[in-house]
Parts: sequence; C-alpha cells; structure tokens
Amino acid sequence: MLVGSAAALAGAAVAGSAVPAFAEGRSGVRLRWLGVAGWELTFAGRRVVIDPYLTRLPVFGADGGFIEDYPLTVRKDLLDRHLAEKPELVLVSHGHYDHMLEAPYLVEKHGSRVIGTETHRNLLLAQGVPASNITLASGGEHLDFHGFTVQAFRSLHSVFGNYGTFAPGTLTAVPRRPETIADLVEGGTLAYLVDVGGFSVLFLSGTANFIEREVAGLRPDVLVLGMSGHANVFDYTARALRATRPRVVVPSHHDDMVTQLDDPKLPPRGNPAAAAELADTARRIGLATRVLDPEILRWYEF
Ligand SMILES: [Zn+2]
Repeated sequence: MLVGSAAALAGAAVAGSAVPAFAEGRSGVRLRWLGVAGWELTFAGRRVVIDPYLTRLPVFGADGGFIEDYPLTVRKDLLDRHLAEKPELVLVSHGHYDHMLEAPYLVEKHGSRVIGTETHRNLLLAQGVPASNITLASGGEHLDFHGFTVQAFRSLHSVFGNYGTFAPGTLTAVPRRPETIADLVEGGTLAYLVDVGGFSVLFLSGTANFIEREVAGLRPDVLVLGMSGHANVFDYTARALRATRPRVVVPSHHDDMVTQLDDPKLPPRGNPAAAAELADTARRIGLATRVLDPEILRWYEF
C-alpha cells in the first residue's frame, strides 16, 4: 500500500539531488516495471513476474482513505495486452489486493505456478486456483527451476502513520470467495531472490520493510526496493542498502496506484523522490550503487 507515501517521499527528498542516467548492460537479464509493485523478469526465454497489478483499482475515497468494500475486478484486457506470454512463476510478496489480485487470472490463462504463504494459498484456493499450481513458502526455501533458482525470505509489511496496516490477517483455512479489497488480507510478507546463473535480483519490492538479518550479505546485482510509505520504519533505505550492497537499486511501489495504464495522463515514471532518496542514501553511506528510475512498461537490460 502506498497511502501517505507521496508526502513522505517528498519530505525525504533532498533538494537538488540528481539521479545519474542509467547505462544498460548485456547480461541477458531484463526487467520491466508493470506499475505499483509489479515486475516482470526475463532471461534466456524464461519469464517470472512478481506482484502483477495492472488493474489499478480506484480504491481511494475523497478523504484519501481506502474504500474497504471496493469490489475486486480485473482489467483482463490490460493483462492480455501486456502479459500476453506465459510467466512460469507468479511470485507473491503478500496477499493485499494490489499484489495478488491478478494471480488467479494468470493461472487460469497461462497455467502459471504461484508461490506464496499459507494465507495466500488459502485465498487463491478460494478463488478456484488449483492446489497443484500453488507452491507454499514461508521463508528459507531455495527452489531449483533448472536454469534459475528462487529463494524466499521472511519479510515484513510496511506500517502506516499509526504503526498498523490495511487489511492485516492470517488465514489457516480456505475462506469464502474474496469479493472486496478488504478480503485480501496480508497473510505474511515474503522477499524473493531470483538467481540466473550467478546474476541475481532481490525483490524487497512489495512493501517498504524487511528483516535485516534475513537478507544481510546477499550482495545481489539488482535490488528492487519498495518505496511506499516508510516514515516509521527506522533508517529504511540505509539499512536496506547497507545490508545487501547491490550494484543497482530500483525503486518499486512509488506511483499513484490508480491512474490507468491506458490513460494518457499516466506519468511515465513514479514519484521522482523515490529514486532521489535512494541516490542520496547511497552517497551518504559511501556505496557506489547505481540507481535506475524506471519508466512504466519499459524493458531494461542489466
Ligand atoms: Zn500491502
């Protein structure tokens, strides 16, 4: 969830900070931001997505708060257009609507495998996803997909100003079919490291929090870091960069979440304060980490 983050990010940005232009590489590993916290990774004909959310439901009321009974609907037209090819894996960071809403449709259309927690599994089963398409993870798994591996790490959801979050909760049994955004509860949060023959991408991307001991020393080539509101998460960006020391860091979950992908008014990038904060933090703590401020739906090769 991003509520409150625009103001928080703007407040954290240092005036005059600049993010140097990003020079692409030739690793064969390509990454594309799908908006919100959604990402698509491809390499050697393989394809993985995490937290796809192209639907961008207009769930905020006039007061900026959640319309908790907003009904769950999916923009299948946008998924058919932008995720036309089968992702073999759909990684779920947590159960909230802006992370897991579209997983059932992708499984139905492509037969993809979804990885998530017991709660995420129960929510998916309640929506008709076959159990055989779901792989359980609780953090600590290191799965071999023969050509790449996926490690899952225990992680944490970010907190709002009241040190709580929208729709917390855990499900130990299959609930009734989810109908509103409040029905899709968090159900635990995971981070994922995708390793493609020595080139690795760490997705701490679904929300702005993490468990430092779980990811310390990973040294990924690319860290995709959630930059939704984190004012009450202690020293967030510095701890994340120090713990993982990535070569490249990419902000995630730093757009308005609601402007439709086919709306000409959609800004090409997210809130520029996110990339600026990451560049400032890297400089401040003495890391040479480069920052990529991505355009929505544009491919980048590392
Ligand atoms: Zn969330």
